[in-house]
Amino acid sequence: MAHLHAIEALNPRLNAYITVSHARALDQARAADAALAAGEGRALTGIPLAIKDLFCTEGVRTTAGSKMLGPFVPPYESTVTANLLRDGAVFLGKANLDEFAMGSSNMTSAYGPVENPWKRRQDQAAVLVPGGSSGGSAAAVAARLAMGATGTDTGGSIRQPASFCGLVGVKPTYGRCSRWGVVAFASSLDHPGPFARTVRDGAILLGSMAGHDPKDSTSAPVPVPDFEAACARGVKGLRIGVPKEYRSDGMPSEIEALWQQGLDWLRAAGAEIVDVSLPHTKYGLGTYYIVAPAEASSNLARYDGVRFGLRQDGKDLRDLYERTRAEGFGPEVRRRILIGTYVLSAGYYDAYYLRAQKIRALILKDFTDAFTRVDALLTPTAPSAAFAQGENMDDPIKMYLNDVFTVPANLAGVPAISIPAGLDANGLPLGLQVIGKPFDEETVFAVSAAIE
Ligand code: GLN
Repeated sequence: MAHLHAIEALNPRLNAYITVSHARALDQARAADAALAAGEGRALTGIPLAIKDLFCTEGVRTTAGSKMLGPFVPPYESTVTANLLRDGAVFLGKANLDEFAMGSSNMTSAYGPVENPWKRRQDQAAVLVPGGSSGGSAAAVAARLAMGATGTDTGGSIRQPASFCGLVGVKPTYGRCSRWGVVAFASSLDHPGPFARTVRDGAILLGSMAGHDPKDSTSAPVPVPDFEAACARGVKGLRIGVPKEYRSDGMPSEIEALWQQGLDWLRAAGAEIVDVSLPHTKYGLGTYYIVAPAEASSNLARYDGVRFGLRQDGKDLRDLYERTRAEGFGPEVRRRILIGTYVLSAGYYDAYYLRAQKIRALILKDFTDAFTRVDALLTPTAPSAAFAQGENMDDPIKMYLNDVFTVPANLAGVPAISIPAGLDANGLPLGLQVIGKPFDEETVFAVSAAIE
């Protein structure tokens, strides 16, 4: 109830939720109370969550932040949200996001921008972005409009908003959480995962969301370990790698200092710090911005005005397709479709898409080689703290640079967590990122908990 009141008071300003499920949330909360009274509580009984509006929720409108899906009410529940409901969670509503999860600022949503509840100490008037694409999820948890949230991370969309909003953001191994019922952006890069205020909460949420799902052919048939227990393991004897390629020349000194601080904490807790090299890091961003749009252009072909959501009538079928797609997609989504269809076209496939796939394999090999020497890696999450609405909007390349530290883990499919690690001179949160071996989220949680 308190959360619904807080949403009523603050959501008109923050715009963190696109849809608030008032009546449904109260029903679920009552059922949770009854379950607890009967001694049948589960891991998340009664815990109020925000659900990124990219997860299909049965009977609740799911927009993907796009006009294209404005009228879409799914007749089914995504596997991840079904798992959370099974464990007793209460869904407060659907959280705002960049259109089809494409963006790093939440400025591309067809439902308006989201405001970051954090303010610069020196400039209280500036409205800051929460990061993206899962900006609504992050703002909701940071402003206490939910205890936790779901997000998806294709190139950093959980970790970067977590860093901008002072939260824990977990991108598990590819295949750990089912993508079934999650509106697809780039299928080989999309990772569902949780936002939480603490590492332990993140572990509990992931434990519920994860698990093999026969409905997603890339879902891994592996058991879900006890992530919560892993948080208490400590880091004694672990080897933590510092990838030298992440020390970019223009890195703000505050971020550099925070990174050093994180390493010092881990050393003091008994870990050994080791320099490592991930030589293909510099190709990560370029590779990502070929592979992701390529897959997006293919996935978005299904929005033709016939099967889902928006339809604009036309004089014939082709006219209907054209009008629907012209009306339904915003500028960033169109840009991705243009890039994606270009790099996949017969004349350019070898030069762009095929080459990007080869580099992707080399980036994965960089991680595999590094993990023969170390148990986990520590890096900054993002190259800056939250920026103001409107900044970086004139130049898409500047916006894409936000993802420089996050995309390699998506290309490689390895697990990574962003943990709040300190504040900048303006009092804004900054995150550090722990990256681990495939399906070894337990070590990533242990290292994250030691930093927290
Ligand atoms: N910012 C990246 C992009 O725009 C990542 C988005 C995401 O992870 N969904 O593609």
